[in-house]
Amino acid sequence: MEQSTRRQFLGASAAGTGALGVSALGFDTAQAAEVKQRLRIQGAKVSRSVCPYCAVGCSLLAYTRKHADGHTELLQIEGDPDSPVNEGTLCPKGATSLELGVSRRRVPYPLYRAPGAREWKRVSWDFTFERLARNIKATRDRTLVTQDADGNTVNRCEGLAFAGGAAFSSEEGYFATKVMRGLGVVHIEQQARV
Ligand code: SF4
Repeated sequence: MEQSTRRQFLGASAAGTGALGVSALGFDTAQAAEVKQRLRIQGAKVSRSVCPYCAVGCSLLAYTRKHADGHTELLQIEGDPDSPVNEGTLCPKGATSLELGVSRRRVPYPLYRAPGAREWKRVSWDFTFERLARNIKATRDRTLVTQDADGNTVNRCEGLAFAGGAAFSSEEGYFATKVMRGLGVVHIEQQARV
C-alpha cells in the first residue's frame, strides 16, 4: 500500500477543505439575490433617549414595534450617531442597556429568605418596604452614635452601610446619598461609571 508523507496528507486535507468551503459558502450571486433578508428593526419606530447609567449622558436610539395585540416590543438600543457626546458609540455597559428592559434573567419581584430558611419565597412590595423600614429604624436606633470620645456631636449611624449599584442613574445615586446622610450613615459606597 502506498504510504503518504505527513506533508502530503496535510496538503491534500487543505485542498479538500478549501473546495468544500467554497461550495458550502455558496458564492453563487444568482442564488444570493434570491435571499431577501429583513432587518429586525426594519419599519420600527425610533425614539431618542439618554443612557441612564452615568453622567456622561450618551444619547441612545431605541427601536420599538407595536404589535397587533397592543403591546410594544423593545427591539434594539444603540448609540445615536448624531449626538456630539458619544457620536454613536457606547461603553460596554451602555451597549447592554437593552437588557434593562428585556432580560429574562432579571427578577421582577422581591424575594425573601427568612432567617434560618433554605428557600427564597416571593413576597409583595408592601411586605418588602415595611420590613426594610422596620430593620433600618431598629438598626439606627441601636447603633446611632451621638457623641465621639472627645464629646463632639457626630450623630453618625455606624450600624448601617449603603452600596449603590452601577445600575443607578446619577440622579438615583444623588438621591440615595442624601437619604443615607439624613439617617447619619457614614459608610456609603457607590460604583461610578469611570
Ligand atoms: S454608562 Fe457608558 S454609555 Fe452610558 S452614559 Fe456612561 S459612558 Fe455613556
